[in-house]
Amino acid sequence: MTAASEREGYFGQFGGSFVPPELQEVLDYLAEQFFRYKDDPEFVSEYRYYLREYIGRESPLTFARRLTEMLGGARVYLKREDLNHTGSHKINNVLGQILLAKRRGARRVIAETGAGQHGVATATACAMFGMECVIYMGAEDTRRQALNVFRMELLGARVVPVSKGQGRLKDAVDEALADLVANYRNTFYLLGSAVGPHPYPTMVKHFQSIISEESKRQMLEKEGRLPDVVVACVGGGSNAIGAFAHYLDEPTVRLIGVEPDQAATLTQGVPAVLHGFRSLVLLDEHGNPRPTYSIAAGLDYPGIGPEHSYLKESGRAEYHTVTNEEVLEAFQMLSRTKGIIPALESAHAVAYALKLAPTLDRDKIILVNLSGRGDKDVEQVFRMIRQAQ
Ligand SMILES: *Cc1c(COP(=O)(O)O)cnc(C)c1O
Repeated sequence: MTAASEREGYFGQFGGSFVPPELQEVLDYLAEQFFRYKDDPEFVSEYRYYLREYIGRESPLTFARRLTEMLGGARVYLKREDLNHTGSHKINNVLGQILLAKRRGARRVIAETGAGQHGVATATACAMFGMECVIYMGAEDTRRQALNVFRMELLGARVVPVSKGQGRLKDAVDEALADLVANYRNTFYLLGSAVGPHPYPTMVKHFQSIISEESKRQMLEKEGRLPDVVVACVGGGSNAIGAFAHYLDEPTVRLIGVEPDQAATLTQGVPAVLHGFRSLVLLDEHGNPRPTYSIAAGLDYPGIGPEHSYLKESGRAEYHTVTNEEVLEAFQMLSRTKGIIPALESAHAVAYALKLAPTLDRDKIILVNLSGRGDKDVEQVFRMIRQAQ
């Protein structure tokens, strides 16, 4: 990706910005700020300070010895985003964007959330910086995720239930955008994944690429060479693009994104403009966006980051699906063989690695991005397993 095309926010035919003029003005302003600060030494050192002191980075790169022995093939390593404060990779991006908001003098941060994970991460960072925080959440989602609503309120955020439309994530995004257009002078919209109109996909990738910056250095220290395969789960695509970023120009490294088979945007999608940017989209027979479903709330995302669509089209990355059964199996397998309970989202990446490792030689290395921890999912898995019995 050249600097010029990155500036315009296009990844091949994907990306861009298809929004009303009043929103475009706000996005142009945001892009200008992002490119001004992203390599500014003071900004970078402040970002690194909070990564270290608040999030607890760098996160370890852990060799899964018993799992590797059991699978009898490639060596499996785990990049431990589950150990970050708040339990997933999401905080990397939240922190970067909130520091931008601070630089611009915005005192008010708004965000959308589906299941509540991005809302909780945003409310957390706002509490630390003493910023006003408003989270838009579909009314239906606030009922299903009452505990996360309470968490956000505990952290001092105001949660606004959105009952327009279907009362889901898409409607929450629309409300957040309307708020942004009305209040952009003092308000920053903190978007949760590598999706949306330019500059969001580029900005979110930048802040998440700390994952592969660390993993590359750690792998060279531990193994003296690069991994053969990097595997990550894909919802909107932020942990995956962060896990891939520093390997994109390393042709020997295979990059694999893993989706739920019932939300297989990259595997089955077609090019279309949705939510203000061009990407692969799942459409029904009438050309309308098709509802997705995933047992992992964080992967039940209607859009996919435009750079993943480009990586798929160009062949640089591969995208595969796994079934719910495979995910549940992986969830339990990693818990038993490593003492790590993965997030259900992350268990998608683990599930694919479980299939891939035995097919590769023992001198090969698979790096799995463990995007989050599974404490939040234990009750759900308990119910699913009990139901199946
Ligand atoms: C939100 C979430 C995801 C999916 O989001 P991406 O933007 O695709 O990374 C994956 N894993 C965990 C633990 C999450 O919380």
